[in-house]
Amino acid sequence: MGKSVKDRRHISTSAVASSPFRFDLHVHTSIGSPCAFYDPLDIPRYAQAAGLTGVVITEHNFGWAENALGPAAYDNLGGGFSERGLLMLVGMEVSTTEGDVLVYPPDIAGLIGALPGGFGRLDFTVDEVMAAADRLGALAVLAHPHTYPKTMPHAIERFNGARGAFYNPYGVPEVGGSDAHFPWGVGAAYTEFEQEIANIEDLICLVKEGKCRPGRRRDE
Ligand SMILES: [Zn+2]
Ligand SMILES: [Zn+2]
Repeated sequence: MGKSVKDRRHISTSAVASSPFRFDLHVHTSIGSPCAFYDPLDIPRYAQAAGLTGVVITEHNFGWAENALGPAAYDNLGGGFSERGLLMLVGMEVSTTEGDVLVYPPDIAGLIGALPGGFGRLDFTVDEVMAAADRLGALAVLAHPHTYPKTMPHAIERFNGARGAFYNPYGVPEVGGSDAHFPWGVGAAYTEFEQEIANIEDLICLVKEGKCRPGRRRDE
């Protein structure tokens, strides 16, 4: 039985494309990334057009502040909020001396508190970020690597919608994210799950267990 499911996945790309749980794990918005050019409230429209069931907003060194979308939206954002049926979650892209690390914490405020020296700093090491992630029970993903640090991340960004495909020398689980800075980029690369994701904890667990696979629009 298991074999036939696996075979089907290899034969038909449309089976992959129609997977019910497709998440873009790497999206920027104009709220937290000066280099991005759209409002987070534009995301659902583009995400759903791209066939996504969820997105994770990962601003550069920035966790969404309470006033980013107004208090009501922020209250809901703690556990992810559903905007027109799209699950929106929050992580952060942390700059380190060895490249960017995407961190998905159970609680974004906890992450901000756990990184010593605050976010004026751009010289964290991957070691420091991994230690903080492990303390918090967060997922840490090496984003679009140009170097491969000795400290092994929990997962690696195999496909980045803006920058292409990346080698995974660690043998850790692989994910995809668009790194979208423009709305039409949302969903250009993504991560698929067989199991439903209701909140950030589900996402953290499934990626750490390797129950996910990366994909990208150009391969469909
Ligand atoms: Zn980056
Ligand atoms: Zn990015």
